[in-house]
Amino acid sequence: MEERKVKRIIMFPLPFTGHFNPMIELAGIFHNRGFSVTILHTSFNFPDPSRHPQFTFRTITHKNEGEEDPLSQSETSSGKDLVVLISLLKQYYTEPSLAEEVGEGGTVCCLVSDALWGRNTEIVAKEIGVCTMVMRTSGAATFCAYTAFPLLIDKGYLPIQGSRLDELVTELPPLKVKDLPVIKTKEPEGLNRILNDMVEGAKLSSGVVWNTFEDLERHSLMDCRSKLQVPLFPIGPFHKHRTDLPPKPKNKDKDDDEILTDWLNKQAPQSVVYVSFGSLAAIEENEFFEIAWGLRNSELPFLWVVRPGMVRGTEWLESLPCGFLENIGHQGKIVKWVNQLETLAHPAVGAFWTHCGWNSTIESICEGVPMICTPCFSDQHVNARYIVDVWRVGMMLERCKMERTEIEKVVTSVMMENGAGLTEMCLELKEKANVCLSEDGSSSKYLDKLVSHVLSFDS
Ligand code: UDP
Repeated sequence: MEERKVKRIIMFPLPFTGHFNPMIELAGIFHNRGFSVTILHTSFNFPDPSRHPQFTFRTITHKNEGEEDPLSQSETSSGKDLVVLISLLKQYYTEPSLAEEVGEGGTVCCLVSDALWGRNTEIVAKEIGVCTMVMRTSGAATFCAYTAFPLLIDKGYLPIQGSRLDELVTELPPLKVKDLPVIKTKEPEGLNRILNDMVEGAKLSSGVVWNTFEDLERHSLMDCRSKLQVPLFPIGPFHKHRTDLPPKPKNKDKDDDEILTDWLNKQAPQSVVYVSFGSLAAIEENEFFEIAWGLRNSELPFLWVVRPGMVRGTEWLESLPCGFLENIGHQGKIVKWVNQLETLAHPAVGAFWTHCGWNSTIESICEGVPMICTPCFSDQHVNARYIVDVWRVGMMLERCKMERTEIEKVVTSVMMENGAGLTEMCLELKEKANVCLSEDGSSSKYLDKLVSHVLSFDS
């Protein structure tokens, strides 16, 4: 009997945690369906391939190979101006070497590229006869807002004016002006270019794979379908698909083992506030101070992720109030990083104080954990509005209200479930996520369609 040819997919993630994680999860899904996967990764932020032994890794080097990587020297690499950083990444990594790497792939049936790489990946792949699928790592509601940017600029909503922050954007309900997904940058035109290129790139692709699910974002997905006119595959939540991959090796530099086994296991069910603002967001020193006091004063157990460099102008914890660590005793734990999926799934966790990155949002929804929402930039504002006003699985705690009494009040009320019906809504939404992944669920069906779609490129 003739052996079935193994189909190969090349995946090209944007080199940031919030983009790399879902791409690796999608790689696992394809691998489970019999594809072999090559991850094409920039030399910038290159991951440890030994953590993902099922996949082949290839480095794509910037076009001035031989010189020191300009991105690692740039002041932007510390995350100060994401718009500048993404523009540089696009400039350095989507030109000649991409074509060489994809071309060398042999029997490749498609390139799956992060939407933010934009049009150039489609053009390069088309030239060498490879179809492209785009992967979108954020929600559909945010994408709708991005497609509306030209209209929002025309109507004067953008650039955002301080006097209009609480005004409803009638074209994009329930978003208010302050929820529009912008990023503070010294190059606002650069942001518009990146977003426009992302939307146009998606239109040129053979389809968009989305880490969301129909029951969560039905209307936004319909809107995206009509705007993009390409097949959409909302197969999320990616991380909940069953795969036959062995568990990832533990990262010994991180605090996972100690946190999960020693401290979290000793806490009462649903008693802990888990606090993390993701992999990129930064806060000011005074906000850090207020968070510390707010958590302390709530008298609730807390697990707080403070990434080194997350507090502007400091290295790690040096701006904590004097004697704080001794003072909190066993009430709280501060760490540099945790395994968030395991943490959210832990029975001791009762609430998640989050910056509302899309991965964090969807991971929290899947575990039925209510959220305290402090969006910092970009799609986080949109996600927070949907969490609070549409899905009703969280409460808002805006950055302009980061003051210890307010923090204590919001954190306590989310933990006390007082009246808002948060727990019921969280369980309902968690169940919807489970249903979409069941055999007849929407995400499972879209995954079958996605696999047939990708296989059809080869015929
Ligand atoms: N994450 C983690 N440990 C942490 C903080 C974050 O594992 O201490 C993971 C989290 O599970 C998520 C990703 O990092 O998958 C962050 O992505 P998200 O979209 O929430 O935010 P971003 O970092 O892109 O702002």
